[in-house]
Amino acid sequence: MSANNRRMRRLVVQLLWEHGQSTKERVALLLAEHKSVRNIPSPHSLSALLSKNPQIISVGVEKVENSVGNSTNHLVYDVDRYLIRDNDDIIYTRSPTVMTPKQKKLAQKCSCGRIRVFPKFSPDMCLHCYRAPPEL
Ligand SMILES: [Zn+2]
Repeated sequence: MSANNRRMRRLVVQLLWEHGQSTKERVALLLAEHKSVRNIPSPHSLSALLSKNPQIISVGVEKVENSVGNSTNHLVYDVDRYLIRDNDDIIYTRSPTVMTPKQKKLAQKCSCGRIRVFPKFSPDMCLHCYRAPPEL
């Protein structure tokens, strides 16, 4: 993955964290408003970016009506807020593919198999394991 692509993935997570639930179209608008973004990903690659990131989940659908009155359902995305509760948690849930070089150096392999930067409050396991939902 190119450095630019990694940066774009990190930015999309940051924008969702700050702005909350958004459709792909809203994410594109947020990217367009962001000063540092020169090239907004195509709708197709934005879809891939949102659906293939373990930090992002789809939380519902929004009905959108077009000019001729047909309505389509647009997926609504958000960061996984059960897992990510603080700005720092974004770093602890990054997969190696989107880590910065500095984070790569700090990353450790967890017993679950994930390679993550471990939180200071959890020196022995990654945040995914630390926040694992209780088994039913
Ligand atoms: Zn783990």
